[in-house]
Amino acid sequence: MTSPKRLFPMQAETLEEQVERLESVFHNSHDAIVTMNNRSEIVSVNKPTLTIFGYDSAEELVGQRIEILMNSNHSEHHARYVAEHINGHRQEREIMGRLRRIHAAKKDGSLFPVDIHVSDYEFDGERYFVGFVRDMTGIQETEARIHKSLFYDQLTGLPNKETLNQSLETVLNGEFDESARFLLMEIGIDQMRAINTTFGMKDGNTVIRLVGERLAQALVPAEFVGRGNGDRFSGLFEIPSGMSAEALAEDIRDRMRAALSDPFEFGAARVSISVTAGGLEIPRLATDPGLAIRYADMAYYEAKKTHRGEVYLLSSDDVERVLQTSALVHQIRDALQMQEFFPVFQPKIDLATGACRAAECLIRWRTQEGRMIPPGLFIPVAESADLIEGIGRFIFLESCAAVQEWKTDPVLSKVKLAVNISPKQLERPNFVDFVSNTLETFDIPPSCLEFEITETTLANNPRVTFATVATLSEMGISISIDDFGTGQSSLGMLRDVVASRAKVDRAFLEGVPHNEKSNRLLRNIVNLMRDMNLSVTVEGIETAEVADFVKTLRCSEGQGYFFARPMEKTDFEAFVRDSAELPKLPAAANEGGRI
Ligand code: C2E
Ligand code: CA
Ligand code: CA
Repeated sequence: MTSPKRLFPMQAETLEEQVERLESVFHNSHDAIVTMNNRSEIVSVNKPTLTIFGYDSAEELVGQRIEILMNSNHSEHHARYVAEHINGHRQEREIMGRLRRIHAAKKDGSLFPVDIHVSDYEFDGERYFVGFVRDMTGIQETEARIHKSLFYDQLTGLPNKETLNQSLETVLNGEFDESARFLLMEIGIDQMRAINTTFGMKDGNTVIRLVGERLAQALVPAEFVGRGNGDRFSGLFEIPSGMSAEALAEDIRDRMRAALSDPFEFGAARVSISVTAGGLEIPRLATDPGLAIRYADMAYYEAKKTHRGEVYLLSSDDVERVLQTSALVHQIRDALQMQEFFPVFQPKIDLATGACRAAECLIRWRTQEGRMIPPGLFIPVAESADLIEGIGRFIFLESCAAVQEWKTDPVLSKVKLAVNISPKQLERPNFVDFVSNTLETFDIPPSCLEFEITETTLANNPRVTFATVATLSEMGISISIDDFGTGQSSLGMLRDVVASRAKVDRAFLEGVPHNEKSNRLLRNIVNLMRDMNLSVTVEGIETAEVADFVKTLRCSEGQGYFFARPMEKTDFEAFVRDSAELPKLPAAANEGGRI
């Protein structure tokens, strides 16, 4: 059997020694230990009690009522607490209670935060209470600091996104009247990028801080005004009854403008600042904090695009569109599984001979119910939902399969097939490998393929895409700049990108051939391309007179409903064979159904 001695090797040998040890523990404790009897009179205190409460000797306390150590506000509570126990409502002998973060009183009357644990014991038929009192002053300060760093932004001192979440919870989950309406706004500094580039991040931060100060002043009263990431601020405002969300938004816009009207000065610099804001009424358009924040973000990006320097409020139509978009995302995913996509081929006509030696492969989506969903609708959604890779891969494999099938055909093997490649595909580090492996698997020459990459794709990510495009071109795949003239790119791009063809967008045909300015614009663009050693395709040719005009420009290729609409594979194959037998331009537009 294990002896108690071995269990507690430090146990005292004698009673005196044990008492001495206990006394030492009592006085060396970190906490103040105060014992009182059931008449609330202090019977003993340890040394830390004197230090913590600011007394010189135990005599000043022993015999006094416990209230001497307490914030008078708590005395009543204490009296009730003690009474309950004394009257035997609670009998247990363990810790009877914990009081957290109450205030105790020092001898000089000053209050300080404490946590108290209270135990009781019986001695000689009388009940005693022992309070272990911990001074929380330092801890409370640390906690306050931690709280501040969690819920407040370091740079501006304003509440942060975390706090916004809490405010939204409060507002949306019940602490307000059911009829209460609120406006949630995301606000961003218009000139931030320019300021950071011109003056550097440090001055950029100064600007954010100063703007934060002015906005915080201008935007009260508010449920919340705080800072998000970067140059972004958020505001949550109750909409006064009888006022519309739009009217409040305008009022807020005016107040922000007034607050920012004086230029900002820092160091030797002086800059004028404006802000753009987007927002929405809640709970009408969103009843959940996460959703409200997402919608506010969307409204903000919409504002940045179309309402710079203004305030844009999300409408219920916008929300409806978003919901439809997210429904579409699910449908696209299902459609890929259910094989609802299929390729169509639109002939590209050699304008000199009228022969069809090339085509563009375009995707089509027919749902199980037979509804056609146009690519203009689902491609952008697929792009933003990261589903375009699946679609891109599908259409690329279909194109390769077609080319492989045509390989041994004397006429069809001459067809060069163009495939649209989206930016997300190009960004994939393994895209080039995927392409070369696929060509190898299908055993088809790269020269049978052309990749159409839009000008916008090339302009938005020049470094990565130019390199990928160059590699693809080295592999032998032709590169064509699609939708030329619709993007925001500089003409310098034409010098840097490796491409063999440019497709002039349909927009340039507006007014052609009756408006002389339109004609001149188109002619100049085609000439420019030729000078840059690019073959030119003019897209969207719908009539004979436009076709005739384009032919005069000595541009190599035309594409459009006038020559042929996109068509399914077998129809396309017949079309190519026909055009090979009759190498002249068709006299009239293809009357086949539009696909
Ligand atoms: P895009 O690459 O500029 O394709 C040409 C679009 O113009 C096609 O529309 C075509 O049907 C249409 N078109 C051809 N000739 C005429 C004409 O004479 N008049 C008019 N008004 N339109 C004409 P579609 O097939 O609806 O495709 C729209 C866009 O969707 C394409 O524009 C392309 O950006 C995208 N897209 C289509 N298929 C794919 C694909 O497989 N992958 C990717 N990434 N995008 C695709
Ligand atoms: Ca295209
Ligand atoms: Ca195009």
